[in-house]
Amino acid sequence: MSKKYKETFRGYLVDNHSPDAPVVTLEHLNAEEFERFFLESNINHLMLYCKDHWGNSYYDTNIGKLHNGLKEDWVGRIVPILRKHDIEFNAYYCFEYDQYAPTSHPEWATRMRNGEPLICGAQNPDATAKWGIPCYETGYRAYVLGQLKEIIEKYRPDSLFIDIFGKSLCYCDVCRRQFKEKYGYELPENDQGLMKNNGDIVQFLDHQAEEMLDEVKDTLKKIDPDLAITVNFASHYPKEIRDKLDYIFTEPWAGNWLSGAYARDTSGGKYPQLGPGDVSQVYNYKNDAVYELAAAEIAAQGCRVFMYSEPMHYDGSLDFTEAQKIGKAYREVEKFESCLKDRELLADIAIIQSDSADSLIIEHPVIARSIGRAKEGGLHRKALLGAMQICDYSKYTWQVVPELELSLSKMKQYKMIILPNLFYIRSELKHDLEEYVKGGGCIFVSGETGTYDQNGELLEDFALSEMQGCHFIRKNTKYQRNVWSAYITQTNGEVWKYCEKTTPPVWHYILETESAGANILGTFRFPAVELTDTQWVNWGYPLPGKETAIPAVYQNSYGRGTVLQCCFAFFDMQTEEFAWVKKFFQGVLEKYIAPSVYLDTENKNILEYTCFDRKSSNELILHELSKMAEIAFGDTPAIPGGELILNIPDKQIKAVQMFYPENKEITFIQKEGRIRCRLEDVRIHSVYKIKY
Ligand SMILES: [Zn+2]
Repeated sequence: MSKKYKETFRGYLVDNHSPDAPVVTLEHLNAEEFERFFLESNINHLMLYCKDHWGNSYYDTNIGKLHNGLKEDWVGRIVPILRKHDIEFNAYYCFEYDQYAPTSHPEWATRMRNGEPLICGAQNPDATAKWGIPCYETGYRAYVLGQLKEIIEKYRPDSLFIDIFGKSLCYCDVCRRQFKEKYGYELPENDQGLMKNNGDIVQFLDHQAEEMLDEVKDTLKKIDPDLAITVNFASHYPKEIRDKLDYIFTEPWAGNWLSGAYARDTSGGKYPQLGPGDVSQVYNYKNDAVYELAAAEIAAQGCRVFMYSEPMHYDGSLDFTEAQKIGKAYREVEKFESCLKDRELLADIAIIQSDSADSLIIEHPVIARSIGRAKEGGLHRKALLGAMQICDYSKYTWQVVPELELSLSKMKQYKMIILPNLFYIRSELKHDLEEYVKGGGCIFVSGETGTYDQNGELLEDFALSEMQGCHFIRKNTKYQRNVWSAYITQTNGEVWKYCEKTTPPVWHYILETESAGANILGTFRFPAVELTDTQWVNWGYPLPGKETAIPAVYQNSYGRGTVLQCCFAFFDMQTEEFAWVKKFFQGVLEKYIAPSVYLDTENKNILEYTCFDRKSSNELILHELSKMAEIAFGDTPAIPGGELILNIPDKQIKAVQMFYPENKEITFIQKEGRIRCRLEDVRIHSVYKIKY
């Protein structure tokens, strides 16, 4: 009856995938040394290899293959140590990378279009590892299920972590047959067919993975109904799969800070855990402050902290410096751990996340490897990441909301809803957005939002045309090669307040539209020339040409609310380092939103913060962090904490206390219904409790 996974905030994995001796000999593998390592690193969650990428098992298996250097049942030896120290035992088992399985059973290999086995890293000249990839629609399925059963029956882990989950695209006989039965045509073999049928193919692979997960759950929950199960990169699987997991584990894909937010917001409240593998690099260690900041960022976003690294030497002994560094960071986490549970994030801005948008409009055929696919995302995730970065910079509060969780009543919690490249808008979502805006809400639309149907076919007009107050004419990619494909002439609108007085460039494409009543806040200029092999202006992107009347930015009043629209890839541009988009967004927010929580600071690129409401004890919990340790390779100068401004009418603020790194009372002033509070200098991380 373990519920440990709900509150273990200090996790770790000795992440040494080990080939057999003579490369990795393990003759000095020593359980007492591991025990000392666990205690020094101050962990309360250990992910322990049961089977690694080499296909080597570390427990007494009747089905799989033991590492040839093992002299004892390693899992059996470690588990009592974990129990003794009340450390969660999280069993690690790898699905799709397994060097041994497809070598000993060639008929289990995942097949490429040409019939050759798919190898991880084979197409990538920079990849160091080239593990085999078995297909679990073959005899490998029974092998996996049999091993998992052995592990759960024999060692009763608290939780199970499945690595390299998902389903790689496979052309084995079984996968081909399954596809044809389901979709009525052959699994496409050329790029054109793969692109055309991308939606079916991604759905097929997701279903294969989901069915495998169902079978794993059925098998294992019969043995232990309380076993908590997750998969790696859980945030990037569709909601149907996320909903079937007991908790969410994800490796960072956008730095620890933003990935933590994304993991939290896609977890459905289910104990998200974020695990970076780049904080520590054994043999080439980073400064302690880098570890401390990473742990603080993950915790401050509401995730359980996890780290993994490779501290085991070839003979099985350990690089103890790693334990000291992790221990130092985790002793800090322990000091504010009591603040991390039983709380809800406060957010004024919602960024809508869609599971389907990234498979709807694509630029290349599906990536065969499931992990490559999960990590990559598409044009929607790119825009979503840009929106996260811009919102975070604004120092307003924000969160990501999966579209299927966004009911009208939930929308009403937010002062602004962002739709970043949400290619297809479901009719239910459209209806709710209309009601939300009519009631006084504000939405920000950008890129190709609402220009496609559920099959990826271009619509004649925007799905939200009425609210936007304009009509779609065409997407213009004529100047794509220019990179700066158009420029904007600004109006005198306040939204431009923080932008330099110039004609800011836009990226790759524009949407040509015509106003049906919306106010135009900017118009496009095309570049002076189209960049070709024979046509250019200077070293840089061709400069702005003549003025056009094509609107670039709109503001429309709809009901009591407002719709803002950028007819170009506004949020994507943040990830392409267009400097003006953050400034423009700041102007938009200042004009259209009165924030409940705002951090007034000149160090917007350095400070990070989150604010949670803990209703059970009538307090807000505020985390403030300085990113300097990351930016400056471990240096942690004192950064002025800025001024916190609260405008939460239903909460009467009684006291502001710094809780970490020290306990002290903080003065605040109350004026015109607002609380203003100067925060202390911050070097890495501070936690405040705001009592109401
Ligand atoms: Zn297959």
